[in-house]
Amino acid sequence: MPRLTPPFVIKKLEKLYPYADCSLDFTNPLELLVATILSAQCTDKRVNIVTKSLFKKYKKPKDYVLVPIEELEHDIHSCGTYHMKAKAIQESCARIISEYNEKVPRSMDELLTLRGVGRKTAAIVLSSAYGIIDGVPVDTHVFRVSRRLGLTKWEDQKRIELDLMKKTPKKDWVHLAHLLVAHGRVVCIARRPRCEICVFKKICPSSLIRSPNPKKTLVRSPKRA
Ligand code: SF4
Repeated sequence: MPRLTPPFVIKKLEKLYPYADCSLDFTNPLELLVATILSAQCTDKRVNIVTKSLFKKYKKPKDYVLVPIEELEHDIHSCGTYHMKAKAIQESCARIISEYNEKVPRSMDELLTLRGVGRKTAAIVLSSAYGIIDGVPVDTHVFRVSRRLGLTKWEDQKRIELDLMKKTPKKDWVHLAHLLVAHGRVVCIARRPRCEICVFKKICPSSLIRSPNPKKTLVRSPKRA
């Protein structure tokens, strides 16, 4: 029986999801940074609806800084937690202006100095906007699917990320995350995984086909990931 390792999972999933990639719409690093901040606890689909008009109105960091915060909150309110997100966007943009010459920084350490930017957001911005791989973006799907598959036993994002980084060639860190997100959306869904149609149904330690125990507690998504 093949071992469930990140490289094996990648090989299987990239046949199923050959176009798995960042699903946020953006045309430059600033747009991606804003979209990624908005995507916390919100679907990418909703974010893409909101950013369609948002990015026409706000083109540079100063556009976000100069507008009254209530107006920015109004413009992003349907993404949820808009007080927090508006504050994060304004303060990040203010720092981008004062510290980074109006350019979204290109390193993990610098990105982490921006308000509302954690390792997940930074890893997405670096890879999708700049082609720099530094970290595995662990979102709710990566958290859940990697644990169900037994790729990691840890329960917090940071440790899961380090574990996946150790077991995966660096070039594939973000690719693995995109594939796990795709699988998590379509097959290994949070409430009721569709194990009967899953490519891992015979080898996954959480498979309901291998061990159809109705009392089994499946790994759920974290509240915040
Ligand atoms: S077998 Fe089931 S639990 Fe395991 S990865 Fe597939 S859908 Fe998820």
